[in-house]
Amino acid sequence: MELMYQSTRGDSTKVSASQAILKGLAGDGGLFVPESIPQLDVSLEAVSKMSYKEAAYEVMKLFFTDFTETELKSCIEKAYDEKFDTGEIAPLVEKEGVYYLELFHGATIAFKDMALSILPHLLTTSAKKNNIDNEIVILTATSGDTGKAALAGFADVEGTRIIVFYPKNGVSRIQERQMVTQKGVNTSVIGITGNFDDAQSGVKAMFNNRELAKVMDSHGYQFSSANSINIGRLVPQVVYYVYSYSRLLADGVIKNGEPVNFVVPTGNFGNILAAYYAKNMGVPVNKLICASNENKVLFDFFETGVYDKNRDFILTSSPSMDILVSSNLERLLYKIAGDDARATGQMMDLLAKEGRYALAPAMRKQLDCFACGWADEEKTAAEIKTVYKNTGYVLDTHTAVASAVYRDYRQKTGDSSVTVIASTASPYKFGTSVMGAISEEYKGKDDFTLIDELCRLSHTAIPKAISEIQNVPVLHSTVCETADMQKEVEKILGL
Ligand SMILES: *Cc1c(COP(=O)(O)O)cnc(C)c1O
Repeated sequence: MELMYQSTRGDSTKVSASQAILKGLAGDGGLFVPESIPQLDVSLEAVSKMSYKEAAYEVMKLFFTDFTETELKSCIEKAYDEKFDTGEIAPLVEKEGVYYLELFHGATIAFKDMALSILPHLLTTSAKKNNIDNEIVILTATSGDTGKAALAGFADVEGTRIIVFYPKNGVSRIQERQMVTQKGVNTSVIGITGNFDDAQSGVKAMFNNRELAKVMDSHGYQFSSANSINIGRLVPQVVYYVYSYSRLLADGVIKNGEPVNFVVPTGNFGNILAAYYAKNMGVPVNKLICASNENKVLFDFFETGVYDKNRDFILTSSPSMDILVSSNLERLLYKIAGDDARATGQMMDLLAKEGRYALAPAMRKQLDCFACGWADEEKTAAEIKTVYKNTGYVLDTHTAVASAVYRDYRQKTGDSSVTVIASTASPYKFGTSVMGAISEEYKGKDDFTLIDELCRLSHTAIPKAISEIQNVPVLHSTVCETADMQKEVEKILGL
C-alpha cells in the first residue's frame, strides 16, 4: 500500500513521497507528514545483523513507498560510500558508560551530511518518477554549515545545479574556505555584501518569482530546495536511531525490548523529531532528551507548554543550535494534536502573528516521553574539559551541550537506562572553542595551530574535510550586491 503525505495545516491534498520530496513545502505553507508513521516490519534483532545501508533500506522503504527497491537501493549506495571515512557510517563510541553516536563521519564532518548525502539522489529519482525533464536547481542561503553540506551532497550529481549565497562578512574563515574551494562542475558559491537575512530574503524572492520560473522552465530548469523541512531530509535521519538501537543489541549492551534514552542537541528540532519517529516505528525508547543551549526556547516549551520566540537571540559557541523558530516542531504539534491540521495551523498563525502559542492540556500530556535541559556557555565548556580529563575523548561544542544536559538529568532523576547521545559534529569543526575549553593555554591561538594540537590531544586523525581546505585553490570568488542576486543566477544559468 502506498503511504501518502499531507500538510500539517489545512490543505487536505494528498501527495506521494516523491512529490513531497520535490515540493519540499506544502501549498498552504505547512510541512508534509505521512498519513501515519509506519511500523518496522523487520525485528530489531534482524536489523542488528545488518549493515548501515541495509538498515537504511528497511527504514526508508516504509516511508518512500513509491520508490522501487532498485531505485531506493541505488540512492542509498550512492549516498553512504567513500564520502564517509568509516564503513560503519555512524559508529557508537562508549565513554563513561554513555554511548556517543558519531554522526560526523561524512564529507563536512557534521550530522547534516547524514541526510544531505542522500537527498540529491532522492530528488533526482523523484524528478524522473514524475516525468520532470528539467534540471533541478538548488538555491540555498546559508550562514555557514548547511551551505557546505548541501554543496558536498549535490556536487557532480547529474541533473542538478546548486547555487549557494552566503554573507561575505558573516561566516567564519574556515566555513568560507570550505565553500569557496568546493569542486564540482554544477556548483556555484557567491558572497553577498548583505547579511544572512538579506541572503535568505533574496532566495525566497527568487523562489516566489513566477516570471523567473517561466523563463527557467523555457531553458529547462526549475528550482527546488534542500531545506531541513524536506521529508527527504527527515526520513534518512530516522535510520541512525533504529541502527544505533540495533548495535546496542548486537553488542549485548541491552536485551531486546529494553528501552533506551536518546539525548539530542537541538536547534531546528529535525534531529530529535527523527528520534521521535523512530520511537513511533517501534524502537523501545524511555526518554527523548531535548538539549538546548542558551537559546532555550525549546526547553521553556517542554517545561511550560508555551512556545515563545519573543526573546533576545544569543550567539553561542554552538552556532548550529542558535535558533528561535524550530520549524520541525510543527510536525510534533500535528502528531500530539491527533493529526489535527486545523489546530496545528492555528498555532502556527499565532506564532507568525504574536510570536507565541500555548499547548492545550491534552496535547501537553502526550509529551511525557520527552525530557529537556539546557546548558549555558560555561557549563558547555566545563563538560568538554571534564569528558576530556576523564576519558581522553574530545567533544564538539554541540555534543557537549547534550552531554552536560544528560549529566544533570541523570543526577536529578537517577534514571540508569542505557543512553545514546547524538554527537553532531567533529571537534575539528569548532577547534577554537573546543581547545579553549580544555585549557587556557590555547586561548587566542590561530585555527591551524590548534588543529595540530587537537590531533595530538585526541589521538584522532585530522579529517579530510579539514586537511583538504588548507592547501587547495579557491574556485569561487564572485561577490555581489544583495540587489543583484537574481542577475547572478541568470548569468550562471544563461537565461
Ligand atoms: C544542525 C545542527 C544541530 C541541530 O540539529 P536540528 O535538526 O536543527 O535540531 C546540532 N548540531 C550540529 C552540529 C548541527 O549542524
